[in-house]
Amino acid sequence: MDEKELENYRKAGKIASNVREWSRELVSPGAKALDIAEKIEAKILEMGGMIAFPVNVCINDVTAHYSPKYNDETRLEKTDLVSVDLGVHIDGYIADTAYSVDLSRKNAKLIKADQEALSAAIELVKPGALVADIGKAVYEIITAAGYKPIENLAGHEMKQYELHAGLSIPNIQVPHKLEIEEGMALAIEPFATDGFGKVIESKQAEIFSLLIPKPTRNRDARTVIAEIAPRQGLPFAERWMTKKIPPLRLDLAMRDLLSNGTLRAYPTLHEKEKGVVSQFEHTVIVTADGCEVTTK
Ligand code: MN
Ligand code: MN
Repeated sequence: MDEKELENYRKAGKIASNVREWSRELVSPGAKALDIAEKIEAKILEMGGMIAFPVNVCINDVTAHYSPKYNDETRLEKTDLVSVDLGVHIDGYIADTAYSVDLSRKNAKLIKADQEALSAAIELVKPGALVADIGKAVYEIITAAGYKPIENLAGHEMKQYELHAGLSIPNIQVPHKLEIEEGMALAIEPFATDGFGKVIESKQAEIFSLLIPKPTRNRDARTVIAEIAPRQGLPFAERWMTKKIPPLRLDLAMRDLLSNGTLRAYPTLHEKEKGVVSQFEHTVIVTADGCEVTTK
């Protein structure tokens, strides 16, 4: 990794970490999930970062790929476990970080196990480390506490304008010998649950990304493409487009773009048995003898 890339990763990491800490006080009973997401996205821009993906506000068994819809009226309740996942990029170099807040105060053990799993995973990161050993450590810490990791979600390598690139960092043991290499940028994100330990897709999607623009006669669809193209494949929220296109027309445009293969949808993921799920995530750069956490 050259100096400029490293500098961009560090800058993105610093902004992501500052915004994450700033955002904690937003996560309180009565707060609207939509407001939390929009305030965090505005703060990223205000601090000089670019938004790497729509801010996720996941409540209880909602595990990933949920960003509030433009008219989402959901408010946090004092019985909720809430996860906030945010991403910042500088010239395509991404910082991806997440945390959970247990408003119910009934899941302290779950949260603690998940945080410990993340710390243990980060401790293991160095050139030559086996991805399988990281997954094993995460699995053992979470199961020893009486919970399950989400087995079909994983951390991931990142590259310029690529949120999920190359290597996966699993939360369970895996039967391969893939190794971590110096210079990799990795997002490490153990999820812990009191449910089944697996996520399933819902029918709803709020997060999308641009694949290859196909010709369309729908003018709104062309507006969406023009708005999203500069993101170079990074995900976006349908909500962002409602500032340009009224919701009903936008729905038609999105349907058009999905059916002709211009867009990819990321359906919201739920815990299979409706367990509550926590998530903690940091981005690291692999150094000669360990790693640097950019989102510390
Ligand atoms: Mn994330
Ligand atoms: Mn991630």
